Amino acid sequence: MTRIRTTTQVVVVGAGPVGLMLAGELKLGGAEVIVLEKLDAPMTESRASTLHARTMEILDSRGLLASVGKPSNDAMGHFGGLPLDLTLPSPYPGQWKVTQTRLEQILQQWAASLGADIRRGHEVTSVTAGDGGVEIHATGPEGLVRFDADYVVACDGENSTVRRLVGVDFPNSELERVMIRADVAGIQIPNRRFQRLAKGLAIAARREDGVTRVMVHEFGRTEKRGAAQASFAEVADIWMRVTGEDIRGGTPLWVNSFSDGSCQLTHYRHGRILFAGDSAHRQMPIGGQALNLGLQDAFNLGWKLALCVRGQASQELLDTYHHERHRVGESVLSNIKAQAMLLLGGPEVEALRNLIGKLIPHDDVRTDFASMISGLDIRYDVGAGAHPLLGARMPHTELTTTSGATDTATLLRGGRGVLLVFADSDDRARFEQLHAQAAPWAGQIQVVQAKPLQNELLAGGALLVRPDGYVVWSATSTDSSELTTALRRWFGAPQSQTGIGDRS
Ligand SMILES: Cc1cc2nc3c(=O)[nH]c(=O)nc-3n(C[C@H](O)[C@H](O)[C@H](O)COP(=O)(O)OP(=O)(O)OC[C@H]3O[C@@H](n4cnc5c(N)ncnc54)[C@H](O)[C@@H]3O)c2cc1C
Repeated sequence: MTRIRTTTQVVVVGAGPVGLMLAGELKLGGAEVIVLEKLDAPMTESRASTLHARTMEILDSRGLLASVGKPSNDAMGHFGGLPLDLTLPSPYPGQWKVTQTRLEQILQQWAASLGADIRRGHEVTSVTAGDGGVEIHATGPEGLVRFDADYVVACDGENSTVRRLVGVDFPNSELERVMIRADVAGIQIPNRRFQRLAKGLAIAARREDGVTRVMVHEFGRTEKRGAAQASFAEVADIWMRVTGEDIRGGTPLWVNSFSDGSCQLTHYRHGRILFAGDSAHRQMPIGGQALNLGLQDAFNLGWKLALCVRGQASQELLDTYHHERHRVGESVLSNIKAQAMLLLGGPEVEALRNLIGKLIPHDDVRTDFASMISGLDIRYDVGAGAHPLLGARMPHTELTTTSGATDTATLLRGGRGVLLVFADSDDRARFEQLHAQAAPWAGQIQVVQAKPLQNELLAGGALLVRPDGYVVWSATSTDSSELTTALRRWFGAPQSQTGIGDRS
């Protein structure tokens, strides 16, 4: 029998990296949030370990990089196992090694410090949406508990319970190619970065603590199995067949598997129930893209849902979550499929690998592939306009304001939007005019008069930047029409006439 009943604005199901990032974003946006997680303690399994440039920029724009410390960075990544230089104009090019367990610790501390109510040991067992809200039941330490929320976000991973409860179709392919993987202590084998041998693909990377991560796929082998099912005996057998090396004497710390199966929800929003991260899209976790994609889903959704539950934004704003992130997901899943083909295909893909290997070093191709892997190529459809930054993320820019030096990442730390007016201090009238126009959105944006220290794209105009860092409106130095329309579209109805937070 349900004894305890709790009301909140948003219930997030799952305290994986995506659920925790979303919880922090919702709190930053002023929403009430309860996170329900079935595990009693954080997951310690060895999973993702790579963050890409856009995710690092996101963490910077929430002040979280200090907690990440100084992770190792490698400018060289790969596309389907072919070397790819990830150098791009970003403060954080390349791949950064941060284990998923460490990232989850950081996000959990951050979300909790902002007031997110994270309840472990609570397994969600039913979700029922009605006109006025969603009723959620979970089994926890106190027995069956009930939560009433305005919205539920399923961040409950690849085998999402919420997806099953809501009856959303998520078809899986029948036969898949599987990579099995183990973290093994006590073995001495050579490091291998995507070594293609006659019988299969072998990867081995020795960590500083002496543990070696081995990953192996035997060409031509397809099977149907659940994620993570594998034994060390199986890894050692396949490793022996593919490389001829005997690792049976090692001590396995973790063994798991993943496949090249791929699947995406048709709709990320089902009324009051939304999906983010692996619950919305399943993909082969190549080069950290699964984790990075999910974190960016959460970053896109958090501020929109917070505005919505606070009654400030329209349903159309919330719908942009699906429109924007579904398209990005589709494109990432497609590049992962191409990579899986190149990685796990046998001798029949050699000709294609040779061809792509020859194309990648050409700078246009390299930049295109690197931008795709790093998440820096994302461009949302934010409406018509000629400014080259419209729909793209605001590039990191050092600024001089009348209150001192700052930069674009720092300005986003409070989780509000920013109206950047690039004007000299003697052009006060222009700043005052835009400031007055934006005054009714004082709670949602800050207005900053700034001079960029670099980046000629910014000189002389004005840009409206969303809390997730994407540019949604621009003006030339003389024309600032349509600002009010853009503010309404992205930040909802005007709230107040005075007290705008600014840095003029
Ligand atoms: C075995 C394995 C190995 C992986 N290796 C890599 C890798 O090398 N590189 C890479 O990029 N990615 C890898 N991934 C993928 C990466 O870990 C995921 O993309 C990432 O964890 C997605 O985060 P998420 O928050 O969406 O889901 P998850 O991390 O899966 O989190 C979901 C959370 O929801 C909780 N939950 C589930 N059901 C319920 C319920 N009914 N009630 C309450 N809570 C619930 C779970 O306990 C879990 O904590 C791997 C995944 C797995 C499973």
